[in-house]
Amino acid sequence: MSDIISINKLSYSYQKGNQVLNKLSLQVPCGAIYGFLGANGAGKTTTIRSMLGLIKPKEGNIKIFDQSINTTNPEYLKNIGSLVEAPAIYEHLSGFQNLKLICKYLNIPNFKITEVLEQVNLLKQKDKKTKAYSTGMKQRLGLAIALLNDPDLLILDEPTSGLDPNGIIEIRAIIQSLQQSGKTIFLSSHLLSEIEKLATSVGIIKNGSMIFEGSIEALEQLKHKNLKVKIRVNDELASKNILNPHFAIKTTESKVLEIDLQTEDDIPIIIEKLTLVKIKIYEVSLQKNNLEELFIDLTNTNQ
Ligand code: ATP
Repeated sequence: MSDIISINKLSYSYQKGNQVLNKLSLQVPCGAIYGFLGANGAGKTTTIRSMLGLIKPKEGNIKIFDQSINTTNPEYLKNIGSLVEAPAIYEHLSGFQNLKLICKYLNIPNFKITEVLEQVNLLKQKDKKTKAYSTGMKQRLGLAIALLNDPDLLILDEPTSGLDPNGIIEIRAIIQSLQQSGKTIFLSSHLLSEIEKLATSVGIIKNGSMIFEGSIEALEQLKHKNLKVKIRVNDELASKNILNPHFAIKTTESKVLEIDLQTEDDIPIIIEKLTLVKIKIYEVSLQKNNLEELFIDLTNTNQ
């Protein structure tokens, strides 16, 4: 089994005529931290709810652990830990007591409690009432609850949302160590910067459809596409005549050329060509393709 989750052409609408998922397909490699990215309202939570059997799409297929999921007999859920929305915690009880209650309910031996508290770095605060926990600590307790079953797959919906920078760093470190211990992590976010720091694979959705799926390296390579340089010169027309056979040029403002590059090495070539015919160069600026902008571009719902 190389893909732990495989979704094929999933479609869903809450109300007639309002398609939220539109033939969505995705593949999550076993052992990955899969970053599931999309702008607000793109359909991330709906996808997660479908995977967890909370809603039942009429079209498409979801395979988890190589089996089509069976929502009437959801045995598969025993091997999934999930954190969707804020964790359900009794605030008048300690972290330990909360976990003990769940162990009793799910028939899990109590020794697992110390193990999961250690995994989420909450052992020291285990006896504190959870009403005194920070949002980050509550989130980590939610993770501990998700880990009680020792699942192979963790599904986390925006796990760092609403946390302060320290809280984010802590959750990130926990996710990384869980992956290192052999778990696959499916993680949704609307922040590319967050996913870039964590994920090994990425899926980007827009309007309920997949628009990019691949390794984090493949996503990084997109950075080098559409590389541009802006050059301010004294003679726009002469510059264009020299460069036109070799480069695609646009002029957006007077005497400023916007040139598409294959690589950064094109810049000295352009400068050399211009200086050779005595064109004066006043300014050269590389328009780096910011991945965050690219993401906004990719997911812009107006397109
Ligand atoms: P966010 O990050 O804002 O939660 P998301 O990518 O998780 O966004 P979803 O929560 O899956 O997106 O929502 C996708 C679309 O479905 C949105 O337009 C939302 O308004 C709509 N939607 C979600 N839940 C329901 C519901 N229970 N009933 C009707 N429409 C819904």
